[in-house]
Amino acid sequence: MRILLTGGTGYIGSHTAVELIKQGHEVEIVDNLRNSKASVLDRIEQIAGKKPKFYQADLLDTEKINQIFAETQFDLVIHFAGLKAVGESVEIPLEYYKNNIGGTISLLEAMRANNCKRIIFSSSATVYGIQESPEYVETMQTGPGISNPYGRTKYMIEEILKDFAVANPDFEVTILRYFNPVGAHPSGLIGDDPNGRPNNLMPIIMHVASGKIPYLSIFGDDYNTPDGTCIRDYIHVVDLAKGHVAAIKTLKPGVSIYNLGSGKGVSVKEMVAAFEKASGKPLPQQIAGRRAGDLDEFYANPAKAKAELDWQTELTIDDIMVDTLNYLKRENQQ
Ligand code: NAD
Ligand code: UDP
Repeated sequence: MRILLTGGTGYIGSHTAVELIKQGHEVEIVDNLRNSKASVLDRIEQIAGKKPKFYQADLLDTEKINQIFAETQFDLVIHFAGLKAVGESVEIPLEYYKNNIGGTISLLEAMRANNCKRIIFSSSATVYGIQESPEYVETMQTGPGISNPYGRTKYMIEEILKDFAVANPDFEVTILRYFNPVGAHPSGLIGDDPNGRPNNLMPIIMHVASGKIPYLSIFGDDYNTPDGTCIRDYIHVVDLAKGHVAAIKTLKPGVSIYNLGSGKGVSVKEMVAAFEKASGKPLPQQIAGRRAGDLDEFYANPAKAKAELDWQTELTIDDIMVDTLNYLKRENQQ
């Protein structure tokens, strides 16, 4: 298939590009490089043997996006592009709504105008908001209890896609709800390399390990969990990338929704212990106050993805730490 990845030079997009090229797909990327670097394209080539064609463009630039679709007939779009920092979304909500929702509408318009009818969208477990059970299933209601504008953009885009699919019944829409993507490609050539100050647990652990931040603040150890720290479902980014390859095979008219997670919950303290085991060194850390909006525990029920996509995670938390350290070592040598 000829596939356009929006946001394809980013963390998850670049790993997915590698897996798609390895499976023989033609991959092209559009990204405005707001949170990624063009040098990632050479890294993709080094790993997968082929450099994706690249368009530096903003999805909000409807005319330019339309032109890209008019020039090339894509079989599928995988839509990663978006702003994703929860804290920042509270500070600049309008920019988040404009970029994530506006960008998606602009993309869908260009797709419809140019007869491209398949889309896979990067959603998030955050759309589940607050549930009674920590095990999230695709059939649960989404929306209520989402604690930040970023999460609401994901929820709203899902709703837009559902409406769009009703109005355009020949469109094939797959929504993938990621749990907590972490780790790096085992080559050490690509990984999570956000521009600016990181927000998520693993990039912060990496910054602490390389001395850019003095210590990890563990946000709360008084949660209702066995060790008091929050529990999440961490998924190796290569497993996640393979989930996209699997999702392509089952695209069908209408909207299909899948959780992509391991189904296992891991606490912050367990993540830190696994990192220390892999690095052989203690990680400087302090217990800090709770972060606003954090839930004590949630993880995926991944049964639907296993049954319908024939996909499940294969890599462990130890693999995640080894690959993260390998990436960190290479980055620090640059
Ligand atoms: P990322 O920031 O590394 O990649 C996103 C890319 O989109 C970046 O390269 C950025 O420059 C680009 N981009 C943003 N707005 C754009 C626009 N208007 N036009 C063109 N390019 C634009 O993020 P990621 O971690 O790879 O996440 C990819 C997708 O997965 C995002 O939609 C994110 O919300 C979603 N997601 C990520 C996580 C996670 O923890 N990483 C979890 C759940 C969902
Ligand atoms: N976390 C932490 N210190 C940090 C960053 C994150 O203790 O500096 C915790 C956070 O409270 C959450 C877990 O690590 O319980 C994962 O946080 P992240 O932001 O990576 O993912 P999300 O909260 O979106 O699931």
